[in-house]
Amino acid sequence: MVRVTASIKDIETAAGVLRDGGLVALPTETVYGLAANAEDPAAISRIFQVKGRPPSHPLIVHLAGAEQLDDWVQDVPRAARVLAEHFWPGPLTLVLRRGPRVPLEATGGLETVAVRVPDHPVALALLTAFGGGVTAPSANRFGSVSPTSANDVRAELGDAVDFILDGGSCQVGVESTIVDAAAETPTILRPGGVMREGLETVLGHPLALPSTSQVRVPGQHPSHYAPHARVILVEPQEVITEAESASSLGHRVGVFVPAAFADLPVKAHAVVAVPASPAAYAQRLYGFLRELDQQGCDLIIASVPTEQGLGLAIANRLRRAAGPRTTV
Ligand code: AMP
Ligand code: MG
Repeated sequence: MVRVTASIKDIETAAGVLRDGGLVALPTETVYGLAANAEDPAAISRIFQVKGRPPSHPLIVHLAGAEQLDDWVQDVPRAARVLAEHFWPGPLTLVLRRGPRVPLEATGGLETVAVRVPDHPVALALLTAFGGGVTAPSANRFGSVSPTSANDVRAELGDAVDFILDGGSCQVGVESTIVDAAAETPTILRPGGVMREGLETVLGHPLALPSTSQVRVPGQHPSHYAPHARVILVEPQEVITEAESASSLGHRVGVFVPAAFADLPVKAHAVVAVPASPAAYAQRLYGFLRELDQQGCDLIIASVPTEQGLGLAIANRLRRAAGPRTTV
């Protein structure tokens, strides 16, 4: 159940902000987005400024329904139509050939554009009231943990965003699956909320995983989705002993205890019991990382789940969070 506190009046205000070239924080089923009018290059450039994101990194255009697809893209292969029909609204982003309506500012100069229809009542109400498309990357500073509640957005961006729509906690909790669907044979560019297995069932053949593709995908940077605390990944059976030895060396350790070891005692600054269900884990993953930062942890010890179903996206985000930091 989605807790929605945004009213009809809030939706109208937010649509007005978009028309005036402003930025709106938008709840979706994946994470909160930082939305601007997809046809307003000045508003789009404000997104990059606020996020501190390099302007060469493309954004996702969000639409109110699959029937709008042909207003924004061209030369849609059959497989892309099948995927759109099956998974929209939902956490699947399709990269397709850019139509003339999409400014190059939204695509980082690429001739392809990423599009999706979000599955969230507030997002769909805003898109319908606004009447156009909105570019919306995650509403966080570049490289840090994506927000999954309106409070996270406030803490992350404060007054840099003109209006925040509160749509409760995000139900999926990790970003969309990005599929390069411009070519005849689709490929996965980033694992996410739609499972690889589901895509393969609908397409009727196996899908290659990332990523020899030349397409730029900022979510693939070495360090991304990262909390302030350093993240170290170890084998599941080593999580507790590693946490305890790091604690004894004086670290303020936050530990993600895998469900299989939930009954064992663990001495650490903060302990997260990892949900046994991958869907519940994905939904709470970013909240756990933020929480351990708030509790002052300097080190997070975790393990990578089995890379099946949503476990693939969780493992991808944890690896990025643990990746080498390019900034301090
Ligand atoms: P975020 O990083 O949360 O803003 O998510 C947006 C994702 O969509 C990024 O990983 C982008 O690289 C990806 N994306 C947007 N447009 C394209 C494109 N034309 N080709 C490949 N990936 C894209
Ligand atoms: Mg992001």
